[in-house]
Amino acid sequence: MALRQILEYPNPLLKKRAAAVDNIGGEVVSLIEDLAETMYAAPGVGLAATQVGVGQRVIVLDVRREDEAPGKRLLKLINPEVAEREGEVVWEEGCLSVPGLTAPVKRARRVLVRAWTPEEREVEVEAEELLAVALQHEIDHLDGRLFLDRLSRLKRDLYRARQRKLERQGRKSGSAHPLL
Ligand SMILES: [Zn+2]
Repeated sequence: MALRQILEYPNPLLKKRAAAVDNIGGEVVSLIEDLAETMYAAPGVGLAATQVGVGQRVIVLDVRREDEAPGKRLLKLINPEVAEREGEVVWEEGCLSVPGLTAPVKRARRVLVRAWTPEEREVEVEAEELLAVALQHEIDHLDGRLFLDRLSRLKRDLYRARQRKLERQGRKSGSAHPLL
């Protein structure tokens, strides 16, 4: 296992659409192990292969309560697809690839996601609230979309100005929200 470097906005690789995995071999399995390790170290609750510069449709998530040990709820999903979406929720999202910014994003409140596991099993994940938001956020990464792309232009411009200012000052602001 190895930690991978998390790419940050505006790295152009974050805008690339990832390709479907057509063979779940050792390479994909070790990519998933690296993604999980990198997500826990960040720390974050979700990470897509796109965020470490790998153009394959693989995501990991661990949305757990504070009193739960890491790992028990770890989801390793290959070729995830949203099969059903229902309702609407607005969640304050933050992203490991967009340091220092959180913003309210509108998503489906409940989703059903179909995917494959590293053990080559087909699975369905039914999710609500944070897990539903996280799944949609990570699948967006695989499509080359950041949560910034779901904000209004005004908010995006404000963010860019703020980020440039922080960079001039040589620092980044922190975030209290779970990062995806
Ligand atoms: Zn993200």
